[in-house]
Parts: sequence; C-alpha cells; structure tokens
Amino acid sequence: MGMRENSAVERMPDPRPGLLEKLVAYVRPEFRADVLVPDSQDPVLGTPTCAVPSCDYPVADHGICNGHRLRWRDRGRPALAAFLAEPGPPIRGRAELGCCTVRGCRYGLAGYGLCFRHRGRWGGPGGRTPPCGPPGQL
Ligand SMILES: [Zn+2]
Ligand SMILES: [Zn+2]
Repeated sequence: MGMRENSAVERMPDPRPGLLEKLVAYVRPEFRADVLVPDSQDPVLGTPTCAVPSCDYPVADHGICNGHRLRWRDRGRPALAAFLAEPGPPIRGRAELGCCTVRGCRYGLAGYGLCFRHRGRWGGPGGRTPPCGPPGQL
C-alpha cells in the first residue's frame, strides 16, 4: 500500500493514559500510517495513474495526468497512441533536479539554467548581465 510504519503512538503525548490505545484499537492497521498513500488499485481511495509509462501522477482526463494533458493539448491533441509513444521528458516534479550553471553555485534550478538568486540578478532574457560568470560576479 506504500504506507510507512506507524509512529504516531510513540510520539504523541498521553494526557489521559489508555485513551489513545482505545482509539487506535478502532482504527484498522492500514489507516494507522502518518501519511496514508493509497494504492492506485484501491477500490475506494485509489486513483488510476497516468497512461504514460514513466509517470505516476493520477489521471486527470483522457487517461493521462494534468501535466501530460497540457503537453498533449499544446501539441494540438494528436492521437493518444502517438502521444504516448513519444510523451517527451518527465513532467515537472518528476525530472532529475538540476544545478545552477553559475560556476561555484550549487543551488537548484529556478529557470533559464539558474538558481532563484542568480535568475533574479540576471533579469531574464534581455537582462542586463549574462547568465553565467565567475563566482561572486552576479
Ligand atoms: Zn503523466
Ligand atoms: Zn546560482
């Protein structure tokens, strides 16, 4: 089911001894997790996942997740089989994290190959300074 071991019982203060144990006794084991991540096949809580093989987001429409649906729409709504054959790179939130291209800066990417701070200083396309340079210059 993709759930973590329950640790809530150990962490919670016990203002009235025995009360928490009574409550937990009524909760089925599969619902005692700190964060419940239901299986996609769960008949009640499950949500089918995107038809793109590498994507685990829930289906939004046409059998694909919202991110892939937007990409499919932007391509002019081709036949779904053709889209699924070439869905493109992983969508936002599922791609490998990148590193700022400014030498010496190892913060994550915020756009245009730059971290949030360097992108702000650059000013975007047409900005006043080039996006890359030696450390401390941007
Ligand atoms: Zn998807
Ligand atoms: Zn940076």
